[in-house]
Amino acid sequence: MAVSKEIKVPNIGEFTDVDVIEVHVSTGDSIVLEDPLITLETEKAALDVPAPASGRVDKVAVTVGDTVSEGSLILTITAAEHLAKDAEPVVDTLVATELSPPVKSQNVAPEVAGEFSGRVDIETDLLVLGAGPGGYTAAFRAADLGLDVTLVERWPTLGGVCLNVGCIPSKTLLHAAKVIEDAEAMNEFGIRFGTPEIDLGALREWKNQIVGRLTDGLDRLAKQRKIHVVQGIGRFLSPNHLRIESEQGEQVIGLKRCIIAAGSESATLAGLPNDPRIMDSTDSLELTELPETLLVIGGGIIGLEMATVYDALGVKVSVVELTDTLMPGVDRDLVRPLEKRIAARYSEILKGTRVTEVVAEDAGLRVTFDGTGAPKSQVFSRILVAVGRSANGIRIDATKAGIAVTDQGIIPVDRQMRTNVPHIFAIGDIVGEPMLAHKATHEGKVAAEVAAGRKRAFDARAIPSVAYTDPEIAWVGVTELEAKADGIDYGKGVFPWAASGRSLALNRDDGMTRILFDNVSGRVIGAGIVGPHAGDLIAELVLAIELGADAEDVGLTIHPHPTLSETVAMAAEAFDGTLTDLYIPKRR
Ligand SMILES: Cc1cc2nc3c(=O)[nH]c(=O)nc-3n(C[C@H](O)[C@H](O)[C@H](O)COP(=O)(O)OP(=O)(O)OC[C@H]3O[C@@H](n4cnc5c(N)ncnc54)[C@H](O)[C@@H]3O)c2cc1C
Repeated sequence: MAVSKEIKVPNIGEFTDVDVIEVHVSTGDSIVLEDPLITLETEKAALDVPAPASGRVDKVAVTVGDTVSEGSLILTITAAEHLAKDAEPVVDTLVATELSPPVKSQNVAPEVAGEFSGRVDIETDLLVLGAGPGGYTAAFRAADLGLDVTLVERWPTLGGVCLNVGCIPSKTLLHAAKVIEDAEAMNEFGIRFGTPEIDLGALREWKNQIVGRLTDGLDRLAKQRKIHVVQGIGRFLSPNHLRIESEQGEQVIGLKRCIIAAGSESATLAGLPNDPRIMDSTDSLELTELPETLLVIGGGIIGLEMATVYDALGVKVSVVELTDTLMPGVDRDLVRPLEKRIAARYSEILKGTRVTEVVAEDAGLRVTFDGTGAPKSQVFSRILVAVGRSANGIRIDATKAGIAVTDQGIIPVDRQMRTNVPHIFAIGDIVGEPMLAHKATHEGKVAAEVAAGRKRAFDARAIPSVAYTDPEIAWVGVTELEAKADGIDYGKGVFPWAASGRSLALNRDDGMTRILFDNVSGRVIGAGIVGPHAGDLIAELVLAIELGADAEDVGLTIHPHPTLSETVAMAAEAFDGTLTDLYIPKRR
């Protein structure tokens, strides 16, 4: 018996008589659950009405230019389960599933998906591919919302790059570096510890213990939520099937929905010899030895953080960066104190310089440079290649699921974290910059909630970035470089830490807090901080941007004294003209 179903406009909040601006289907089309049927335009935004069921379109009842309200007929379909059967039509009514917050669709051409009709070993409501900060957060949230979740991870521990070979081990070693440097700095002021003895094995063990504590914790949290964790390398076979390869063999998982959280890998440089003395960030965290000299290729965050560690441990560090600046894209006034400090400590900082050749010799790695002011070739004991990260979209055969993937392996998504395949979401590094753990976790929650039928979208106004170098550099929102390039009418409040009692008590006077304000609305639009704990301090300014705070909101908030956090209020007061801790001539 063929069943004809009517699909009607769902609840669209307070809106009535909204315009139909696009009709995505025609009579005879096959549609699958969640395919966009029509796009409506309200005074606030455009929103898609997704299909509440799969099937074949029998008749489209609306055209572009029509106005519709809740309950208006959009189209009739023959549901997929009845397509093959032949009998009298019975009319049934479906209202499209609750609309999610308005999102613009990606407008990317779907790839041709693969097909799979073989044996399926596990069936799951929601498959999460990759157990990094994005994946485990998505899996946990989805399980908390009642979905049956299978989490696939190729590594033996959960936590992804961040916990295993990224944020946590690097920050552990950076703490060790800080202790050494702080102790060293006190020499001048009457406390002398002597040269530190470094037991690399013990240091490595301490770092591993911290990582282990966190990853064990994730295991427990997954078990408590009854998440089915499958270890193995997952690759798509079709939009609803993933093949898992592991030492135990192969299995196929059938999925109704999927969240891809397969992250990224260290980018490599072509033409380098295969030599264990050439490290990526993961190797460098292993601390297998302390080389006499280290060349860090890449003056970005990861390279400079690891340079900080190796320098503190007594290695002679050089840095080579292709562009004319360290940390390209970050405001120069923020990077300057770091550059000044490391210029005095490192053997060399080569900017605007390209590495053209590396030759493995017995004595070390001979490196040839090119660029204005490039030195002659030099030999280094080890090299760390830190030239960025590449997203894993191609490596997981995403195109076999019909998912659009860029040449760089990035999977485009909309604000609901949905790919061009409606039941498949993607989050974290695999969806592109900024490749940061806190972005991945937030996206993970959004994807899990949307997959569970909730109305959610990624609508953060700002994502902070931090370089945990010494000094730390943190920034959020609009940079001054961007404000100038975009012609934004902005003003700034700056507070130099040389005037902060707490900063001087920490024996540091090289920091700065700088806030950018929109001159029209008065609101905070961006901020940068350089100095110890900048990464913690920036959180207040992220909140200021989220809440639409202005200089008075920040300046009139009482900050504890003496803290570095006062510098945030004082930068706001500097803009507002109410700062008393410095003399700033009045702006006319
Ligand atoms: C040295 C270093 C330091 C960093 N420091 C910071 C920091 O301080 N702060 C910060 O915010 N970010 C930092 N990052 C970046 C941060 O680690 C990433 O942004 C974050 O881990 C991304 O999370 P994710 O969930 O998207 O992916 P990932 O953490 O990359 O996790 C992806 C997971 O998917 C798994 N996987 C991939 N392919 C498959 C497959 N085919 N089958 C099964 N499993 C698969 C991987 O094994 C991995 O566990 C750092 C990165 C590095 C390398």
